[in-house]
Amino acid sequence: MATYPNHGRIDGTIAIIGFGSIGRGTLPLIERHFDYDARKVVVIEPELADHTFLTQRGIRHIELALTRENYREVLGRVFGEDGGFCVNLSVDTSSLDIMKFCRERGVLYIDTVVEPWAGFYFETADNAARTNYALRQAVRDEKARNPGGPTAISCCGANPGMVSWFVKEALLKLAADTGRDVTMPRDREGWARLMQSLGVKGIHIAERDTQKSARPKRLGTFVNTWSVEGFIAEGFQPAELGWGTHERWFPEDGHRHATGCQAAIWLNRPGAITRVHTWCPTPGPQFGFLVTHNEAISISDYYTVGAGAAPDYRPTCHYAYHPCDDAVLSLHEMFGSGRIQEKHHILDENEIIEGKDELGVLLYGHEKNALWYGSRLSIEETRELAPFQNATGLQVSSAVLAGMVWALENPEAGIVEADEMDHVRCLQVQRPYLGPVEAHYTDWTPLANRWPLFAEDIDETDPWQFRNVLAS
Ligand code: NAD
Repeated sequence: MATYPNHGRIDGTIAIIGFGSIGRGTLPLIERHFDYDARKVVVIEPELADHTFLTQRGIRHIELALTRENYREVLGRVFGEDGGFCVNLSVDTSSLDIMKFCRERGVLYIDTVVEPWAGFYFETADNAARTNYALRQAVRDEKARNPGGPTAISCCGANPGMVSWFVKEALLKLAADTGRDVTMPRDREGWARLMQSLGVKGIHIAERDTQKSARPKRLGTFVNTWSVEGFIAEGFQPAELGWGTHERWFPEDGHRHATGCQAAIWLNRPGAITRVHTWCPTPGPQFGFLVTHNEAISISDYYTVGAGAAPDYRPTCHYAYHPCDDAVLSLHEMFGSGRIQEKHHILDENEIIEGKDELGVLLYGHEKNALWYGSRLSIEETRELAPFQNATGLQVSSAVLAGMVWALENPEAGIVEADEMDHVRCLQVQRPYLGPVEAHYTDWTPLANRWPLFAEDIDETDPWQFRNVLAS
């Protein structure tokens, strides 16, 4: 029988909020790697279709949706005076409110996204208010108001999350491969100066998901490899990106923010139909969608030298996501019809017949042109590594595991994002679940592989301008 490293003891209650694709994948990893009192595990989930998993383990299930009105009372009862760990893997619950509550009670907290209460994504036409910038800034403001105290980790999944740890490994690799000093920087400023000194102009979070089932997508069903609800919500948010100091052009529909860190801009169009030219090892050049993500803002912010709207250095950073083929078709159908599909389906590990999730960071614009660094996890390897999840899920749940270990080892770190955690320790915990983690240099630029038949609005003097990355 396989043995797994024990990463310590969780005292008190472990509450998992939301038991969808990521919750189901995370619980077996918690079982595998921590000591805890099994009678004190609680799952809060309003729509559990199959109870077998929880009943077999004797895990308590609270069948309700947390709301702005009930969360303090419900979580107050769940944690009592015991403390413990709150693992928030739900949609439609406010990360900020729940995080604040946990910190008041001395409960450790982790989530994979800054999620708002239900309604936020669709109930206002004020697009600036619907940005991830606004969601993240509220968490950063809380951190500034209440520094230190019980650890609450914001956005610790695959992306946001693990990719921030990959950026650091990629920087050290690039430094070594270009003959630079590879002493590990000790603080944020050191990392930012390292990135600046290496001449990195920007970063794509470059992902290609090739997982597929044998059953073709049906009309009227949105298919994805993780939360359909989460993907639709972020897909309808405005496209957003960390805005680097090398950019010479500004998008016509681009908007800056007057307050906060000012590391990012938003475009007045939905991210899930905003295409960018990007690159991953398996397909080579490809289109990705510029879906807004927390890491696009946090990475640009973290690697800023200087501050505010006019820093000395800041990298551009954004997601460039090619989801699984069925999800691309689902987006096409949804935006084309103007209707959100009624049926939602997440491809599970049993029905996927082939494919992998290739998720990495593409550091570009430096003397070796571009470096992709990331995980290329196949469905076959996933099945061998951990139960109840596909490759996408395991990249996320293993990052949650790593974050939980880090929180146990650093219980008074206050509110942190993945960029602010010890990437060496986190990847040490996570790496066994990531399949091949590889570095690939490429001579591809956004100006390569363009069709010459139609004139495009491009800047040939610098291939890595966002103007060239954004597809017309
Ligand atoms: P999912 O849609 O499969 O599951 C979400 C669950 O939350 C559902 O079972 C739903 O019933 C439950 N839920 C809805 N409203 C709730 C409420 N008010 N209180 C409690 N539970 C509620 O989603 P998933 O794929 O498991 O993803 C979970 C979360 O993780 C989502 O927020 C998603 O955006 C995020 N995510 C992050 C990453 C990353 O890499 N950072 C990757 C994938 C998913």
